[in-house]
Amino acid sequence: MKLTIPEYTLSIAPYVPGKPLEALEREYGISDSIKLASNENPLGPSPKAVAAMQAAIGNLHRYPEEPGYVLLHRLAGHLGVEPDKIIIGNGSDEIIGLLSRALLQPGDEVIVPTPSFLMYTIVAQTAGAIPVAVPLKEMALNLDAILAQVTAKTRIIFICNPNNPTGQIVTQAAFDAFLEALPETILVVVDEAYIEFVRNKDCLNGLSSLEADRPVVVLRTFSKAYGLAGLRVGYGVMPAELASVLNRVRMPFNVNSMAQAGAAAALDDVDFLEKTITLVHTELDFLYKALDERGIRYVPSQTNFFLIDLARDAGNVYENMLRQGVIVRPMTGYGYPRTIRINVGLPKENQRFISALDVVLRLSE
Ligand code: PMP
Repeated sequence: MKLTIPEYTLSIAPYVPGKPLEALEREYGISDSIKLASNENPLGPSPKAVAAMQAAIGNLHRYPEEPGYVLLHRLAGHLGVEPDKIIIGNGSDEIIGLLSRALLQPGDEVIVPTPSFLMYTIVAQTAGAIPVAVPLKEMALNLDAILAQVTAKTRIIFICNPNNPTGQIVTQAAFDAFLEALPETILVVVDEAYIEFVRNKDCLNGLSSLEADRPVVVLRTFSKAYGLAGLRVGYGVMPAELASVLNRVRMPFNVNSMAQAGAAAALDDVDFLEKTITLVHTELDFLYKALDERGIRYVPSQTNFFLIDLARDAGNVYENMLRQGVIVRPMTGYGYPRTIRINVGLPKENQRFISALDVVLRLSE
């Protein structure tokens, strides 16, 4: 190929998602497998979302309303903010990408706690910006170390709360002090993809900082607690001025009409949300207990997933778990070569995970 590709594009390591069930079954010729690798909702999609999408299907010959009026206004009511402060995206991934496209120039610095969600680094690199990795401290974001890395070139700081993959939170008090110490020229992105699952009452709520008129973006998603990962809907809440900047680089119709209808209905599905949260909490406790009984170490989490320290090569365990029909996520690419991440499944899936782990760990003794 004779094209000129920027060095910074070539430096990107492509995102490796959790293995899809279909791929496992195709490659290994097995059926009845389970996936605990992508922090999805094991209950399926919100039933109210499904009904709304079925009703919307007859209108697919039309372009969606732009920008998604109904969903924007539903979200505004739900969150208690004005609709002009919200940008909806094709997953919150898209909002992360829009922020990079709108705000970053080559040579800018973006602070990325590490390990955290890998897309922060990827979008920074896409714009030729420099991701500045700041190691976690005891599995949690280290706000003091982040402050120490701020320079005149810092444009964005990503705060994943709770953090993927470690499941730890930032407290409101710690975040308030952190924001106070930062110049207002730096945008803080608080990614709350898993906020619905948090049990710790001291946890930061990013929306409170927005009220204080700080340059903060809060990201949320329908992919986890609402069970709509395949639909691809997320959103960002931000100062209206910044939202109008993102609207300049956003593609029109970026969230399709089915997705808009499904997400708007899911917001009303309070029963489904409660059922999901209860399942996650009960089953997390089941999994912790089962691991305790086996003397296997893990990192208790405020999300619907957690890390398990296997004290042996995670890649090997991952492969052997696949053969048992169980997809987990090896954390080698996140800098934890002996650790896997699993999300909470249905009770019978979690029991199956534990049985498969027993078999695999015995095999590799
Ligand atoms: N942020 C975090 C922390 C995530 O873990 C994920 C999904 N894995 C996302 C954002 C993206 O979610 P989506 O694009 O599905 O809304």
